[in-house]
Amino acid sequence: MGFVPAYVRDCIITHLDFDHIGGLDDFPYSTVHVAAEEYASFASGNPRYLHHQLGHRPKLELYEKGACKWFGMEARKLKLPFSTTVYLIPLFGHTKGHCGVAIQQNENWILHVGDAFYLEAELFSEAQKIAEVASKSADDDHQRKLSLKHLMDLLASNKHIKMLSYHEPSFFNLEAELSFKL
Ligand SMILES: [Zn+2]
Repeated sequence: MGFVPAYVRDCIITHLDFDHIGGLDDFPYSTVHVAAEEYASFASGNPRYLHHQLGHRPKLELYEKGACKWFGMEARKLKLPFSTTVYLIPLFGHTKGHCGVAIQQNENWILHVGDAFYLEAELFSEAQKIAEVASKSADDDHQRKLSLKHLMDLLASNKHIKMLSYHEPSFFNLEAELSFKL
């Protein structure tokens, strides 16, 4: 895509599932930002992860629970070498330390929810076939459902947040991606 790997200095990780960190070692100079609970689960030998994916021993920046809030939800401010405000937002359940990533854009926010929902339809009805897949793949399904409910409430009460998830195809605008220039 025209990026020089050495220029990628920070990778912000929602969680450490294999389909989210494959290729991380393409960016060996990058600091990996992730919730402390997520890394602890990975390091404990949880079999859901592919442990060689951090085999290149990247510099890790781990984030613990703090007092910061974002629209009433717990937030962890990322230490980044640029001025944009970015938070990890705990949305635990899918994995033990799964977080969304909130990025400020003036008065608006983009919230990347990772796998807190797979498809956008899950926000509007629990009677989705995909919900069975989500339940089966959760480390803590009760907590996952609570996190999903927080997202529903947030969406209903706030017009300044745009959510996107990793697996929802409608969020990917190929034309916009291809026209992106460094
Ligand atoms: Zn996942």
